[in-house]
Amino acid sequence: PTTTAEPIQIERFLRVNLLKTSIQDFLNTMTTEHNFIINKNKKEQREAGSKYLVKDEHINEIFVMYPHDAPVHNMPSVINSTCIVQDKASCMPAHVMFQTLPKLLQERNLNGNPVHIIDACAAPGNKTTHLAAKMSESDFGTKDLAVHAFDRDEKRIKILSDRVSEAGADSIVKVVHKDFSAVDPYDVQYKHVRAILLDPSCSGTGIVRQGGEKTVTQDRLNKLKNFQITLINHAMTFPNVECIVYSTCSIHEEENEQVVAEVAEKNSDLFRVEKCFPEWDYRGIDSASTNHVGPLCVRTTPEKHATNGFFVSCFVRIPGSQRERV
Ligand code: SAM
Repeated sequence: PTTTAEPIQIERFLRVNLLKTSIQDFLNTMTTEHNFIINKNKKEQREAGSKYLVKDEHINEIFVMYPHDAPVHNMPSVINSTCIVQDKASCMPAHVMFQTLPKLLQERNLNGNPVHIIDACAAPGNKTTHLAAKMSESDFGTKDLAVHAFDRDEKRIKILSDRVSEAGADSIVKVVHKDFSAVDPYDVQYKHVRAILLDPSCSGTGIVRQGGEKTVTQDRLNKLKNFQITLINHAMTFPNVECIVYSTCSIHEEENEQVVAEVAEKNSDLFRVEKCFPEWDYRGIDSASTNHVGPLCVRTTPEKHATNGFFVSCFVRIPGSQRERV
């Protein structure tokens, strides 16, 4: 007998937009106005026909929603952006940055200085508004236009601007329509940039529901890899950046561990790969050919985590290192 493989199901996550509400107020609205039941954990009993929210065990501001196919986009809380439909994996880069950066600044006696962040490839802006919310919660001092969000695509930059406004992040995020590789790292307006999030175009092969390239040739992977390496190398030229988070929604080693290994080797005098998100036990691919950077990085996979396939890594500056200005 032939069996048809079950399509892979991924879970539906809601990120509470802490720029607009608190977790408690969000939960009150979801229970009283939308009839959700709050479960303590995923294993608790759930009845068919009812809607449930379960707090994520890793990232404080996200909740998984049951059933996964319950209509969500017309919910008032989603329409008014008090919560944002965002896959857990896509919430990891901002989570990693704000796990890493405050510690680094403290260790390096940089506390008290202004902190700016770049989101280098920002549209449509899910990670940008997440960064803005994390920024607003941080004790980093003035937050006015402290997140510089770049994108080179004319149509997508418009979506980014709209999303930033809808999320209530206008005062924190400066949207700039520009190719990140053409941004001058020595421009005074970027002198406080301490962290860069790089989530560049990739094959999208980890995406389950929509988009993503289904078949990718080796030639295409090589081109993507070279483009991704160029952008990280550029991020490393910002003189005061301490932390760079690089992520993709690709499943390919070429765009993930190979990129990280090559960049780390080329810039070994300036940056090292930091073990990010240590409590996440599913790590990057470990191989001698990528200098064993994999275990320092994080992967997610639909089969194991019910998220899109995703990759996150983090570079930190070797304290005090600086390349000569060219
Ligand atoms: N970070 C986004 C989010 O979470 O919503 C998704 C980013 S998407 C994977 C990649 C984006 O990078 C695209 O919008 C693309 O236009 C942009 N991009 C590609 N090359 C770029 C470059 N050199 N400078 C700025 N943006 C670039």
